[in-house]
Amino acid sequence: MLKISQTSQNAILHYLQKNDYCTDKKINEATFGFLNIPNRTKYFLKDLPFEENYKISHSTLMSPYHNNENIIEAFFDKLQRVYGVGSRDIFYNTGKDDEVDKTLDTNEAQVKVIKLFLLKKYSNMYNNFRKNYGKRVIEETGNNICPYCYRSYISVIEAETGKKSLTPDLDHFYPKSRYPFLAVTLSNLVPSCLLCNERAKNDQDFYKNSIYPPQKFFDEIEFDYDVYLNKIYIKNYKQLIIDPKYKIHLDTFLIQETYATHTEILQNIINKHKKYKQSKIQDLVKHTVGLSGTYVKKIVFYEYEYMNKKTELLYKLKKDLYEKIIK
Ligand SMILES: [Zn+2]
Repeated sequence: MLKISQTSQNAILHYLQKNDYCTDKKINEATFGFLNIPNRTKYFLKDLPFEENYKISHSTLMSPYHNNENIIEAFFDKLQRVYGVGSRDIFYNTGKDDEVDKTLDTNEAQVKVIKLFLLKKYSNMYNNFRKNYGKRVIEETGNNICPYCYRSYISVIEAETGKKSLTPDLDHFYPKSRYPFLAVTLSNLVPSCLLCNERAKNDQDFYKNSIYPPQKFFDEIEFDYDVYLNKIYIKNYKQLIIDPKYKIHLDTFLIQETYATHTEILQNIINKHKKYKQSKIQDLVKHTVGLSGTYVKKIVFYEYEYMNKKTELLYKLKKDLYEKIIK
């Protein structure tokens, strides 16, 4: 979800295509630890569909979101053709600390080698990209609010001395533990808050069942309240969870539970509404020349009347409650 300038795109591509990230070179490095990789696996690694001349291809790095599914399926098609139908699951389930059968003579061992190779290579690329370009690309996207929860700011903060800065997380929309080859694809990176990325989402697989861009989720939900219980809830919750892509978002980020804690907003609107009843507003209009009722209402509820969707935390909650209580 990173939309960045052409200059930055070129700089990143140039950086990621340096020789340190050359698959051919890496295969031959003793540090990789599998000196006796069978030729079949070497050929496989040297002809990956998401690389060109052993390095990440321009089209993989710049792939638009809707094309990432093609990258994933092209890779697994090839993997399954060479190593059998079960290879996709083996690939998914192999983690960076997994042991590999040293004899390397089974399909399973070879798929594990491929996974560990890609995990290592692409994690390393991502970590260096994050260190060198993270701040720059997050600043360029200009997003201020976490798109998953819409309740935390994600701006870059810099010390006045310029020596230290705080940057938000970069979430891998399709997790790099399963799709390491998308670890630096710009459309797969979502600046987000720490709570959503590291606590809530973690390695949850959003492939096939997800809303993109994630903030679109809030256009579909409708908040409501119960004044006697002082409770906030999602009115269309039951309809939403029928659709797996809404269910995964609600369950992963605990949206209903999280938003239910914001009763201070509910109370603020209700209190203002009580204080400035229609009769009181009419009083004000009567005693002030040139003011209309509508105008007074807009002044009283200024913070809700003139919200900017892009910069207002909890925007949808405020909008829905305001419209239900006041309008
Ligand atoms: Zn968040």
